[in-house]
Amino acid sequence: MDFPDIPTLLLLTVCSNALVAVFMGLMHRAKRDAGYFHLLALGAAGMAAGWSLYASRLWEWPPEVSYLLAHLLIASYPALLLVALRRALDLPDSRHWRWGVATALLGLGLCLWWAIGSRYWMTLCATGGNALLFSASLWVLLRHGRPFDLARWTILAAVAACALMLWLRLGSVLIRDFPLAGGDPLLVSLGLIVPLLSGLILAMAFPVSEFVRDAQRLQQQSERDELTGLPNRSQAQRRIGEYLEGRRGPLALAFLDLDGFKRINDSLGHATGDALLTAIAQRLQPLLQPQELLARFGGDEFLVLLPYPPAPAERRARELLSAMTAPFEIDLREVHVAASAGLSAFPLDASSERELLRLADIALYRAKSEGRGSVVRYRPDMGEAANAELEVELALRLALEQSRIALVLQPRLSLDSLRCESAEALVRIHGTDGSLQLPDTFIGVAERCGLMPQLGDRVLRLACEALQQLRQRNPEFNLSINLSPLELRDPSLSARIDAALTTWALPSDSLELELTESALIQDPVLAAERLSELKARGLRIALDDFGVGFSGLSHLLEFPIDVLKIDRSFVSRMLSDATASALVEGLVALARRLGLRVVAEGVEDQDCLARLRALGCEEAQGYIIARPMDAAALSAWLRDAADARPRESSD
Ligand code: C2E
Ligand code: MG
Ligand code: MG
Repeated sequence: MDFPDIPTLLLLTVCSNALVAVFMGLMHRAKRDAGYFHLLALGAAGMAAGWSLYASRLWEWPPEVSYLLAHLLIASYPALLLVALRRALDLPDSRHWRWGVATALLGLGLCLWWAIGSRYWMTLCATGGNALLFSASLWVLLRHGRPFDLARWTILAAVAACALMLWLRLGSVLIRDFPLAGGDPLLVSLGLIVPLLSGLILAMAFPVSEFVRDAQRLQQQSERDELTGLPNRSQAQRRIGEYLEGRRGPLALAFLDLDGFKRINDSLGHATGDALLTAIAQRLQPLLQPQELLARFGGDEFLVLLPYPPAPAERRARELLSAMTAPFEIDLREVHVAASAGLSAFPLDASSERELLRLADIALYRAKSEGRGSVVRYRPDMGEAANAELEVELALRLALEQSRIALVLQPRLSLDSLRCESAEALVRIHGTDGSLQLPDTFIGVAERCGLMPQLGDRVLRLACEALQQLRQRNPEFNLSINLSPLELRDPSLSARIDAALTTWALPSDSLELELTESALIQDPVLAAERLSELKARGLRIALDDFGVGFSGLSHLLEFPIDVLKIDRSFVSRMLSDATASALVEGLVALARRLGLRVVAEGVEDQDCLARLRALGCEEAQGYIIARPMDAAALSAWLRDAADARPRESSD
């Protein structure tokens, strides 16, 4: 049997390979993905092998070289096709194509082995093996691919036809009495090529382009965040999965979460909130290195994929956070934001996408509680703390739902009149087992998990209800409630207090709001605004736990404060510690000079009470006067202690 002449063979090769290249190019355009470069490289290798085969015929290389190259080409096609089809159909499982590639390589090995023996058998085995493999891959595709779709079937058919044609042509070229070729190999080739070529062109002209466009559009829609244009959660998850699967080295995930975004949303409106998120995306995106990825994970949470070991990743996260400290200009208004970040690292902390995300979230949780702008790397002990916190959150949710939130009231004694004219409301949770949980165990959790507004509102209502009852017998009685920093930022606070006072027909000066300095320094401008608003309504403001934490005497001047509560830690030591004594003395004198009412907290013995009285401290609160108790007990206590003499009582 004669070979077709060399120019014809070359023409055929160029045509068929060009078609495959166009097909791959189309798919490559559809999804910009490292997998496609891989694919193109594989295709290029196959084509190079084909070309060298013909070159060897032209220049008469030793037949072994030609056979080797021919089989490299034959063996690479099924693998190539498997990869291409898997990508085109977006198969969820990568196991099949990996098997495909492995089997193709095995086929190649076999070919080389057989090359020592009969060339005929070698070719037959390689072709047969590859045909089997191709059928298996088709079966896998049809079974696991997406539901029936004409465009995809056309692509499948076209690619299959193209592959078949190449095998036949190669077989007929390489083996003189190739069984399937029968007759003039050129005719056989042309007879196959013409219909298949037209099918392929048709498939590419309409359904493929349609499919590609569809796929592109769908992919873009489903993997982009509409607001910011950044990759969304599903793209981020896919990319992490691919990275881990490819074992491309270390990877760190950094969750970036805006501090106080809800406040911006609440006070400036959702449109401003949206504009801020977009501005953040626009500011961060250009700062990224090509190998990094920024995605919007949802709400005000961004995720950054940093393909570095933990230490440099932490540095990068810090750089990105610091880029957010400069103010944003939104609708001609300057908006300041800060963010916190939590970091988890592969493979050190975890090796699955889901686990890495969970750990980064736990680290973020910790970062948030450590204050603004911090970057925290996950540590194993955080997991336990997070679990414990989750339990508290659950218990708190249940307690809110089942109305198991209660208040206890601790009387404050006026040291001038020795009468008790006010009390402080302290929140408790009644456990289902009859236990009573103290606020220190759940206030922080309520703040972090977003339950504080609900809890604060419940406390306000319960306090007003209790105060109304108490005022029936003690008309001048006042109550103070504790406000968390989060509540102070709530723009609806004044309206809620107004509504509660109206519901229980209480004058506004019967309620005092206790705030710690941390509530004031987080956003001093807003805090001053809010406090003035509350004061204008006639409410009194007390600075709680004064002397610890962020104490600054300037706060006494900057904010409209009426009452200063000296922290228990100084009061309890004032008789034994000269410095504490001097501090209490100084604070009382200072407060009086500034026209503030002074309350000493945590007074536990008579001597201390007497000393405070001598210093001119106006009020005292502590176990020596009474422990916190419920409203009914306080009512009875007030009746019994009408002369307001200090005495012990029980919770
Ligand atoms: P705080 O406002 O400084 O409340 C005083 C705390 O000291 C109360 O603890 C009270 O039981 C305790 N105490 C009073 N006298 C004495 C004493 O003589 N000796 C000792 N050792 N302790 C005394 P409690 O009820 O556990 O509250 C702790 C903190 O939880 C409060 O400190 C307050 O910051 C916060 N808190 C309580 N209720 C609420 C609430 O409704 N909302 C908010 N945001 N925070 C609250
Ligand atoms: Mg207090
Ligand atoms: Mg206090």
